[in-house]
Amino acid sequence: MRSRSKIRVAVLGATGMVGQRFVQLLADHPWFEISALAASEKSAGRRYEDACHWGLAVPMPGSLRDMVVKSCEPNLQGRIVFSALPSATAGPVEEAFAQEGYAVFSNASAHRMDPDVPLLIPEVNPSHLDMLRAQRAFRGWPASHGGFIITNPNCSTAVLTLALKPLYDCFGLRQVMVTTMQALSGAGYPGVPSLDILDNVIPYIENEETKVAAEPCKILGQWDKDAGMVRPADIAISAACNRVPTRDGHLEAVSVSLKQNASPEDVTCALREFTGLPQRLGCPTAPTPPILVSDAPNRPQPRLDRDAGGGMAIVVGRIRSCQVLDIKFVLLGHNTLRGAAGASVLNAELALAQGVVQ
Ligand code: NAP
Repeated sequence: MRSRSKIRVAVLGATGMVGQRFVQLLADHPWFEISALAASEKSAGRRYEDACHWGLAVPMPGSLRDMVVKSCEPNLQGRIVFSALPSATAGPVEEAFAQEGYAVFSNASAHRMDPDVPLLIPEVNPSHLDMLRAQRAFRGWPASHGGFIITNPNCSTAVLTLALKPLYDCFGLRQVMVTTMQALSGAGYPGVPSLDILDNVIPYIENEETKVAAEPCKILGQWDKDAGMVRPADIAISAACNRVPTRDGHLEAVSVSLKQNASPEDVTCALREFTGLPQRLGCPTAPTPPILVSDAPNRPQPRLDRDAGGGMAIVVGRIRSCQVLDIKFVLLGHNTLRGAAGASVLNAELALAQGVVQ
């Protein structure tokens, strides 16, 4: 679809769990090429291979091994910056990059709920890209200013909201109860100590339930241009989040109450038929289809299903009637791909395809 030369991009937090996924996804990307890798002062000045505890099954791209890791200062080569920084650090750093004219695509929670920042899933709310006009105005940047911040949701929210979107559009949603079983890679590296999680489940992940309850309502909400705000979707969401000893892939047991009657077959059909703008635009990271429905009685499972669609599709199974709400099902999504780095890369592809990146 794009024939011009590749756009140079930088990765902030490149040595971490999500940063490595960025490196994996961007190494052979048809539209982007990595021109800078940045991390903390501990890593700055070192070769990427020395600074990074590479934990992926695919080898580190040979061309990046000798790249010297930089500090996260807004003087990096590249027009686009992908951020995999811890949230506490990300806030001011991402603002400084956007202020200097970089297009920032962030995984961190720091700016997700800012009223002028899109919290984007390309298949779900591509129209929220319009918020960038308001972002420029709100921050006093001229129309010619190329900098902005676009965020992607929390990993559990990202995969949940993708499944909720067709139900919201087809039947309306009143209530959602979700219990997550979240993989260890979601806690970053080195994450949860092995003696805490082996032979165990931890029924608490700091701040997670608040994010899972709030973020889908912003994403499924309506951008009101005149009011300059998103009118959040009126859905009551209750989340119970658990850390389990799987490596990658968040499994979520979901029950929903719907505004219109729908059978499990109706819900299956709505999920199977769902597609989105990035699929129609041919964005390279967009999976086709974005939602796979399994009829097997014991799927999805993290080890078997997390790599569906290159880790960018979610898998939904066990769709059945709920004795308390209306319908229940189980979903699985790859937390560091669809839930993190892949989500940001897809956001950048959509922004580019829509002419938002100058
Ligand atoms: P991580 O493995 O702990 O990696 C953190 C990265 O940030 C490392 O590259 C680290 O560099 C760098 N960093 C830490 N402190 C810094 C500082 N003060 N200045 C500059 N760089 C600093 O964490 P992660 O799991 O990749 O998560 C990254 C972000 O993505 C977080 O905001 C997280 O909430 C979000 N997220 C993660 C997931 C997931 O599944 N893991 C999913 C969605 C969103 P050094 O190596 O030099 O310390």
